[in-house]
Amino acid sequence: EETEPVEEVRPKSPVKPMTATEVKVNVSIPEAAERAAATGADGVGLLRTEHMILSLNQTPESYIEENGADAYTNELVEGIRSVADEFYPRPVRVRTLDAPTDEFRQLEGGDDEPAEHNPMLGYRGIRRSLDRPDVFEHELEAFRRLYGLGYDNVEIMFPLVNDAEDVYAAKRRLEAAGIDPKKRKWGVMIETPASALSVEEMAAAGIDFASFGTNDLTQYTLAVDRNNENVADRFDELHPAVLRLIGDVIETCREHGVDTSICGQAGSKPEMAKFLVEEGISSISANIDAVRDVQHEVKRVEQRLLLDSVR
Ligand code: PEP
Ligand code: MG
Repeated sequence: EETEPVEEVRPKSPVKPMTATEVKVNVSIPEAAERAAATGADGVGLLRTEHMILSLNQTPESYIEENGADAYTNELVEGIRSVADEFYPRPVRVRTLDAPTDEFRQLEGGDDEPAEHNPMLGYRGIRRSLDRPDVFEHELEAFRRLYGLGYDNVEIMFPLVNDAEDVYAAKRRLEAAGIDPKKRKWGVMIETPASALSVEEMAAAGIDFASFGTNDLTQYTLAVDRNNENVADRFDELHPAVLRLIGDVIETCREHGVDTSICGQAGSKPEMAKFLVEEGISSISANIDAVRDVQHEVKRVEQRLLLDSVR
């Protein structure tokens, strides 16, 4: 069961949002937290946990075997805490581990990783987490501890889900880890066409938010490897098919009271911001150096929409 906070977390940086659509920031390494918070962003739309784990230079399984599960959990607690603290009380959306096997294979313990022909289509994200509950539970334990410490601004985001079945399974893992899904904000990334087409069923599972991972959503929708330079000119997050999926998800989520967000690279592009604000997205998360431009574009588009509505 979740424990009550043992200490009061002091509001560090309350900010008044500049725009109705929240503009947040992506953080990939905890060391960037201060710089990210200084942008005046309304929170962190994506805090990646890969660096916190991969920098141990060991696979999670190998690290736990050598140092114990508690040490593993602590690495995550400390990494997430430094960001949650910097932004408090602004929300920080933390993604559970999402590294492909080819990255794990380079680490100590990597020999035990499966050798995959298509790691991006393989054993990663929520697929791996659900398949290894004995590792996943120690990750989720980090969230339970952070809530116990008073970091109620921490939100939990699951990567690479395909359907409601994935979402219900992830929710059961949360409950098993002593985290109350009704009390905490949690949600999913929309990164596969399947997830975009399943969002209504996912909403029924009780998610608070759906966040577009447009790097993967573009790759899988267009069948364009995001890391293949031969087809790099075909990688287009603004492709009409990608935008149609995104627009439909925003509409469905609005009908079901689910917040929508974007945390892929495309969130840093003003053209994308314009489209998303017009579609009625709840928040946009951009890279540190793009926050300002996105804030201004969002403001501009919101003002235009307001004028249009009274005309
Ligand atoms: C995405 O797919 O857009 C995303 C944000 O996740 P990552 O780039 O880490 O795969
Ligand atoms: Mg992704």
